[in-house]
Amino acid sequence: MKFNTKLIHGNYMENETGATNTPIYFSNAYKHESAEKLENIFKGTSMGYAYSRLTNPTITAFERRIASIEGGLAATAASSGMSAIYLAIMNVVESGDEIIASAGLFGGTYTLLRNLNSYGITVKFLEALDRESITNAITDKTKLVFGETIGNPKMDVLDLEEVSKVCKENNILFIVDSTVTTPYLIKPLEYGVDVVIHSTSKYINGTSNSIGGIIVDGGTEKLKSDRYLNFKQYAKMYGKMSFTGKLKATVGRDIGAAVSPLNSFFNLTGIETLALRMKEHCKNTLDVAEYLIESSKVSAVNYPLLKTSKYYELAKKYYIKGASGVITFRLGSKENCFKFINNLKFIANVTNIGDTKTLVIHPASTICAGNTIEEKEQMGVYEDLIRLSVGIEDVEDIIADIENGLNAI
Ligand SMILES: *Cc1c(COP(=O)(O)O)cnc(C)c1O
Repeated sequence: MKFNTKLIHGNYMENETGATNTPIYFSNAYKHESAEKLENIFKGTSMGYAYSRLTNPTITAFERRIASIEGGLAATAASSGMSAIYLAIMNVVESGDEIIASAGLFGGTYTLLRNLNSYGITVKFLEALDRESITNAITDKTKLVFGETIGNPKMDVLDLEEVSKVCKENNILFIVDSTVTTPYLIKPLEYGVDVVIHSTSKYINGTSNSIGGIIVDGGTEKLKSDRYLNFKQYAKMYGKMSFTGKLKATVGRDIGAAVSPLNSFFNLTGIETLALRMKEHCKNTLDVAEYLIESSKVSAVNYPLLKTSKYYELAKKYYIKGASGVITFRLGSKENCFKFINNLKFIANVTNIGDTKTLVIHPASTICAGNTIEEKEQMGVYEDLIRLSVGIEDVEDIIADIENGLNAI
């Protein structure tokens, strides 16, 4: 099956009624004919459902669809992108361990990692995830390298192949957040990444109607090594799929961040149009970028597929279909940013990205307000920075509205 077909049919889960849409199973619990049957489900020796914090048919259908689209062995849905990131990390690290991460991460992820300090976990934030910096940062205690395919909102492009190689040579797990890029633009597992995470609240859902996250396991032999003593028993039981095996048996169960079956249904519906939407997001964003570059009121237009971007060469290598719908630029002052935002007509001043609608935000005073000035700069966030998430409206209308904002400066 090719990509567009998989979006609609990949790993389709039959249901007893023949309903063409996945039924929404609003049930916490499931009846079983015998005590032995339920015992076997709990033992993992028999397929079946026990309790919706652990498994639910609608959630399973969504997990299977995403696993198929990403080319993974298994996927585990979570109640938000943040909980997906938290679960994936806590599945691997223990007190005393170290993580290597890009300093240009999404604000929420940066804060999450920084706060792990109080659990005795050290995070080394690197200016850039390149061979030399990673190699210098690795110790016996390093358990994972974490980055974003394209950073939100730094718009830096991760060299997936190179970082995968370094991680492979050192037998260290490589986890990537691909929220901005989606499986339509890139499938990180194909480049040697071990685990891929999405906030499904963004492009996967598509219309911002539900919060959710997902963790996709590409399968790995790395967890069999002595670096990961905490995986020994799971590696024996689950082989290449020990990441998911441990996740479902430990932190997944302990923390219980299950996504709603309704959200899973919305995501299954949303993902069917992912390819169509992403094509438009990418095309419109390039047009918006070209318009912004021409404006005397705008500087530092930042989009990886612009020749002026530091990441142009990498973007051309990895993002032949487009570099998604997020773009940032600078307007000279915070005051100008506020004037710009306050004079937009339909472009909405909101926190998220990845909606069909065009969205705008002033990151420094909002999503990154909890970060220090140094941290903000590492994330590519300045006092005069605007982030746009370009939607799929007619681009003439988007540009006309941007002009409304710029005319007010
Ligand atoms: C939004 C976002 C998250 C967090 O996801 P939620 O669903 O809001 O919890 C994580 N990573 C990136 C890149 C994001 O854009």
